[in-house]
Amino acid sequence: MPALATALAAAILLASPPAPAKASRPPAYVVVLDPGHGGEKDGALSVEGRREKDITLQIARQVKKRLERQGARVVLTRGGDETVELPRRAAIANDEEADLFVSLHLNSAPGGPGTKARGIETYFLSADATDASASAVAARENADRFRTTDPSDTVGGILDDLEDQANLAESSRLAYALHGALVRATRAPDRGVKQAPFHVLAGARMAAVLLELGFVSDPVEGKELARPARQEAIARAIAAGIAAWRTAEGTAAGTAAGPAAGPAAGPAAGPVSSPAAPTAAAR
Ligand SMILES: [Zn+2]
Repeated sequence: MPALATALAAAILLASPPAPAKASRPPAYVVVLDPGHGGEKDGALSVEGRREKDITLQIARQVKKRLERQGARVVLTRGGDETVELPRRAAIANDEEADLFVSLHLNSAPGGPGTKARGIETYFLSADATDASASAVAARENADRFRTTDPSDTVGGILDDLEDQANLAESSRLAYALHGALVRATRAPDRGVKQAPFHVLAGARMAAVLLELGFVSDPVEGKELARPARQEAIARAIAAGIAAWRTAEGTAAGTAAGPAAGPAAGPAAGPVSSPAAPTAAAR
């Protein structure tokens, strides 16, 4: 009965007390928020001269507070009015081993301050822009680059970074979760979830999105975006969108059996035949 003996041995092995479980991942998650521009880069301007870099920082601080209440560890890529180069922003997220990276921006119509255009757009990375408008937004946000001659700092570099399809799928889901929450909360026109080659997203090795939270260049929306009530509504929506995304990803991760589930799943998963089980229990 060599087969039974093998089964018995396996059952005895499996019945032995499990090794102390490795400390599982702490419940806290890490979010890196990236207030667009800063320092010598003002970003887009409103009719009154309000600057994108100031409003994105104010919103980022609000989001940070709310996410910390949800149990997150939150890192801002800049805490004040500082110049931070685009590649550095994603590098901060990588260094912090962030679960997600959210870059906060305000849109500007091609005609500049005073041009009428409103609404929210949400982006995740692609080498090709969804349409001409998305391409223009990426070009404007990419204009902050300092070293455009660096060969790694090209659209080709972005293509290399797109190899991680898992991050891309997560980014897409994060984009839709945030976009839906933002449009509902602000009732701003829904300009859609799009893709474009944003250099600030290119190096991020986690779910990463870029939010265009409204047109600071629009005479009406530009004023609204400077108001605390609108900024709070946006912050609340971002926190809610992240929470919804995490819940959805958690459900997906549960069915995907991550590496942490390995040896602990032994007894239930093993091919031990049923006759062996009572014998092992009797010992
Ligand atoms: Zn911007």
